[in-house]
Amino acid sequence: MKLTFLGAARTVTGSCYLLRAGPHRLLVDCGMYQGPAKLVARNSQPFPFQPAKIDALILTHAHIDHIGLVPRLIHDGFHGPIWATPATTQIAAIQWLDLHDIRGEEGGPPLFSSQDVTQAYKMMSPLPYGEPTEIADGLTLTLRDAGHILGSAIVELALKDGRRVVFSGDLGPPGKPILRDPQTVEPADLVVMESTYGNRDHRKLKATTEELGEALITADRDGGVVLIPSFALGRAQEVLYCLRELSEQPDFPTFRVYLDSPQAIRFTELYRRHTAEFDDAAAGLERPLEPPNLELVRRHRDSLDLDQLQNGGLIISPSGMCDFGRISRHIATYGPRPETDIVFVGFQAPGTLGRKIVNGATSVRIRRRNVALRCHVHTLGGFSGHAGRSDLTRWLAACVEPGRTTVCLTHGDYRVMREFAEHLKEQLRIHPRLPAWKSSISF
Ligand code: ZN
Repeated sequence: MKLTFLGAARTVTGSCYLLRAGPHRLLVDCGMYQGPAKLVARNSQPFPFQPAKIDALILTHAHIDHIGLVPRLIHDGFHGPIWATPATTQIAAIQWLDLHDIRGEEGGPPLFSSQDVTQAYKMMSPLPYGEPTEIADGLTLTLRDAGHILGSAIVELALKDGRRVVFSGDLGPPGKPILRDPQTVEPADLVVMESTYGNRDHRKLKATTEELGEALITADRDGGVVLIPSFALGRAQEVLYCLRELSEQPDFPTFRVYLDSPQAIRFTELYRRHTAEFDDAAAGLERPLEPPNLELVRRHRDSLDLDQLQNGGLIISPSGMCDFGRISRHIATYGPRPETDIVFVGFQAPGTLGRKIVNGATSVRIRRRNVALRCHVHTLGGFSGHAGRSDLTRWLAACVEPGRTTVCLTHGDYRVMREFAEHLKEQLRIHPRLPAWKSSISF
């Protein structure tokens, strides 16, 4: 067996692994690179393998850095089945349609067409969690719940000779709202694990919900509009869930809540259709994603009306880092007013508008205008899509057998990975590898 690391190698985006097992060639994830131009340029480079010779593709979950190049893979000749959970199948279709006119570089051709997207959707083979399925002669695939976003999966591959390979995909933090905790898996010969937050633990979610509550009580006193920039997939649903929970506290202020994004509304509807994947707490609720006074804002002109709110209101809208989407317009409108509160619920990458606001900028440029900021800013650190260091370590401990298991760390900043590798050496007495881009290991 030979595994080649074609993405998320010493970086966090572009997940893609090529596994050769006997005569079979499998691809796990086929993600887009995001961030620095040098990495984004890889999206339009030819695949370093022949897509037509890949037997099957397995997708861990429907984030763009894991599935974004699938339609291009098909355009370039891949014609095998695509295995993923039913929820991933549906989320992926929405993501691809939103991406189909994205270009690899400025002025270059689009990476794929809407026909490629239709074809990709037709090739999906939905596979529920926990159903071992022989996807090639002597090769059995089982998907396990990864607790990261709806439909996210850990990939377990078992060979006829008893050898096992596990890909963690992205692992959610245990205790995350709505979804179940990541499942532990049996010891394997090779474990490929994400390490996004391998160097730190997050604040407890309960404390974060309380913090959100406090921010909203302050905002209510300020009497203005509350803006929550949020990713459309995952975080928006978690915020709705927490707002619903907070609304049950006695004396909690009532807000009119606007979910201002057709995409976030579609993802919320998908979450509602997959309640079987909810954890016990969320499954036990009548409408877990519906705080009181929720309004779904799809049309652009209704979103424009939100810039004229007279009596306050709470707007949840992408993009999560404020650089584009409806939220940037709302910030331009409400940011200059001292009664406005902006509540950040996600990581703000360096260079983004969100990061500038979090860092206390008093003047920012939005849509080619200078905007003076006089609003209050709250930054909540506890919402996370990824498991922290202690949770990753615990998860890994269950699937490592001394003398048998090789561990490869991927999907992390190289500096973070090295810190995490040191931690694992001390805690689990293992020596993980940190594979470079395009490197291979045989086992
Ligand atoms: Zn992810």
